[in-house]
Amino acid sequence: MEKLIELVKNENVIVSSKIITYDNPDTIYIPLKPVSTILIKQNEQIKIGTPLFKTKEYIETSPISGVISGLKKVNTLNGLANAIEIHNDFQEKKLIKSQVKINLNNLPQDKLTKLIALQFKIDITKTNEIILNAIDDEPYVLIENFYLLNYYEEFLELLDKLAKIYNIENITICVKSTSGENIHKLMECLGMYPNIKLKIIPNLYLLGKESFLKKYLNTSSNALIIKASLLYDMYNLIKRNRQKTDKLIIVTGEALKNPSIFKVRIGLKLEELLNNYLDITSQDIVFYANGLMTGHEITVKDFIITEDIDSIICMPKKANPKPLKCLNCGACTSICPVGISPILLSNSKYYNKVKDKCLKCGLCSYICPVYINFNDYLQGGKNE
Ligand code: SF4
Ligand code: SF4
Repeated sequence: MEKLIELVKNENVIVSSKIITYDNPDTIYIPLKPVSTILIKQNEQIKIGTPLFKTKEYIETSPISGVISGLKKVNTLNGLANAIEIHNDFQEKKLIKSQVKINLNNLPQDKLTKLIALQFKIDITKTNEIILNAIDDEPYVLIENFYLLNYYEEFLELLDKLAKIYNIENITICVKSTSGENIHKLMECLGMYPNIKLKIIPNLYLLGKESFLKKYLNTSSNALIIKASLLYDMYNLIKRNRQKTDKLIIVTGEALKNPSIFKVRIGLKLEELLNNYLDITSQDIVFYANGLMTGHEITVKDFIITEDIDSIICMPKKANPKPLKCLNCGACTSICPVGISPILLSNSKYYNKVKDKCLKCGLCSYICPVYINFNDYLQGGKNE
């Protein structure tokens, strides 16, 4: 097992565990993917689940019912994009109204297997062990933790049913040692589920990543690791017959007076959330999406909360310490969990050799005492 470390964070940043629901915005925006074919027309009245556009791999559907008002330029995690703008009619009309509620007690096993494979790309018949991963790695990000905290009863019910249907012998829920509230709640009710175990995982960076967690647990290669956020989507589909229209997002960081967790409609503008709920301490702030270690700095204006956004971290702008000359201390090489020598990344031959192996975990930049930022090299722009 690699030598992993605990990341330092400001312990005064505390997020209330009460979820604020903000899932009925007037307008939402669904960014197009490269090479999309648009499937709707301007002014068309649509329902939840109406196909909006398709790519070679999949079809994007609408998370609200309303009217298509056109295309707008927006900001996303991957830069500027054209997005379909939809005005909410607040009717919550669904494209497919199921006549029969999906019921785990009477849904034929082959139908359930197909549904899980189709929607979640999981072959549940090939596993004898499920590991529920409720671990957040990034400092300040507590998203998997909050999914578990708020839906643990639903999760236990679903895991127990899946274990019975598919003869799955081992089910383990992994939480970090710092997740006191989750540990307490699970210990109170796991007595009713003798087949489900709780595993407390040390607060070390990268143990939330599937490959590291599997190694740490020394588990079989066919163990199925499911993130708490994914189990929430599975529960909604299998038990409530609901498509994915909302998600949890944590907005936190040292520049906020009231770090909070929200349940939002996919496609919401971040500015709307910030303006309505959040109390920012100064104007000089840097915003990061999806973590300080592996995430990206973003521009808030017209930024859209897409399916892949779990966290927004607001940090006071600090005078960027100027990188000094490398001390050859070797700290970056010894911390790299996959054995890369980050100091050699500026050499394009070496970079090309190791670029696919790199986890983009940010540990090398985090540890460097003279503030060398390896991201510049890892993105491939600075190599000679
Ligand atoms: S970002 Fe890449 S090079 Fe740096 S420590 Fe992580 S895996 Fe190693
Ligand atoms: S950690 Fe920084 S100073 Fe030390 S060897 Fe790596 S780049 Fe040089």
